[in-house]
Amino acid sequence: TPVTLPVDLYAPERPNSHGVDLADPATLAALDAARAPFREAQWEAGDGAGPELDITNPADPSDVVGRVRLSTKEDADKAVATAAPWDAANRAEVLNKAADLYEEHTAELFALLAREAGKTLPDCEAELREAVDFLRYYAAQIEGLTHPALGRVTCISPWNFPLAIFTGQIAAALAAGNAVLAKPAEATPLIAARATELLHEAGVPKQALQLLPGEGATIGAALTSDARIDGVAFTGSTATAQAIHRAMAANLAPSAPLIAETGGINAMIVDSTALPEQAVKDVIMSAFRSAGQRCSALRCLYVQEDIAPAFMKALYGAMDEMSLGNAWPVATDIGPVIDTRAKAGIVEHIEAARAEGRVLHEGTPPKDGTFVAPTAIRVSSIADIEEEIFGPVLHLATYKARELDRVVDEINATGYGLTFGLHSRIDDRVSDLTSRIMAGNLYVNRNQIGAIVGSQPFGGQGLSGTGPKAGGPSYVPRFCRPPQGSGVS
Ligand code: GLU
Repeated sequence: TPVTLPVDLYAPERPNSHGVDLADPATLAALDAARAPFREAQWEAGDGAGPELDITNPADPSDVVGRVRLSTKEDADKAVATAAPWDAANRAEVLNKAADLYEEHTAELFALLAREAGKTLPDCEAELREAVDFLRYYAAQIEGLTHPALGRVTCISPWNFPLAIFTGQIAAALAAGNAVLAKPAEATPLIAARATELLHEAGVPKQALQLLPGEGATIGAALTSDARIDGVAFTGSTATAQAIHRAMAANLAPSAPLIAETGGINAMIVDSTALPEQAVKDVIMSAFRSAGQRCSALRCLYVQEDIAPAFMKALYGAMDEMSLGNAWPVATDIGPVIDTRAKAGIVEHIEAARAEGRVLHEGTPPKDGTFVAPTAIRVSSIADIEEEIFGPVLHLATYKARELDRVVDEINATGYGLTFGLHSRIDDRVSDLTSRIMAGNLYVNRNQIGAIVGSQPFGGQGLSGTGPKAGGPSYVPRFCRPPQGSGVS
């Protein structure tokens, strides 16, 4: 007899975005021509009473991308007071319309992603596609919702996915019928502002979606400690998630959920049965794509000792081939890290390793801008990595075949549980390790980044997040109230 799964495990009927074919020269030429007007364009964000700041391109500080007016505490207070949940019957239609508008504005959004966030062209493409997928996937779930919205939801999003995660949180909260107070990352308010305009243009009422660009310490704090807030969605560091949790516990109703997606110190194991060329390609992608600025990125690679010399030679060769530079107008492999402070922290980590003779290999970065070359650092185990280093830095350890249990224990002992990668052609080992290693997302014989909405819901365990996973069937229901009344749900 065929095995059938409970119906709600299936993704709703809905195609993922086709995206743009970056391998097609004609598409690239058309895209470049369409982006041309945005080469020197400027954008604005915020309309409160706070101070104005210039936002510059991380790859080129002389490129002013636009200006942001920071929100004040009074702006946040007023936004919460005027926030109105959105119970319109046409929510799905509006969110789908927003997805279409995002696609129609591909050239402008790519320009913003490249100039404000330093994204490479492939990263611009993947990010826009994911944002569109979130909108359509959550819109498709509205019909099946059985419980009312929470009410007012604060969404605090990160700069590393300034369009996709910003949109995903908001789309889920709106799909459930909430009013959203959105605080974008300090570094990327302009993308958030343009996305908000497109959402409003699609038909999301202004009182249901209010953007409050500002500092975490003021606006983030105000929007997570106001008793009128009914839930918080947050993506960012584990430490900030914990601080938000404390503020919520002290000020909000106990029923207000925190939906947090946080950091990870993610491992990959490559054993002696792995296909070396494939594993090298997947390590490069997992550790260095997006300049390592993904919470899913590979941080600690364990290579079985027997194959380590040949494997590392191939890996270093591939690292030398990576191009660094601004995404505009040419596509490069690695763009800048987000700002000079981020660069200083990563460089400090590399220099500390160099002082101990542990830098194994590094490429050469361009001189200007906040670039960091892909770097490999030797560690004896994942336990040597004290904190998540959010950049193109790969830590590398070797292990003997008989030490695999110790490696599993070390990985689990980090307390994080976001992604785990495994390259092995031994089926029993694959099922054994993937059942024992704590991670929200497991990737076997492939790279370990780039979860796909609807087919690979994304989220972690332990210190890596609260769940439910974004882009999966349980996410939108978390933005609804639990069953009330007699206990019949
Ligand atoms: N969803 C992204 C991925 O699968 C990572 C999200 C993040 O970095 O916050 O690579």
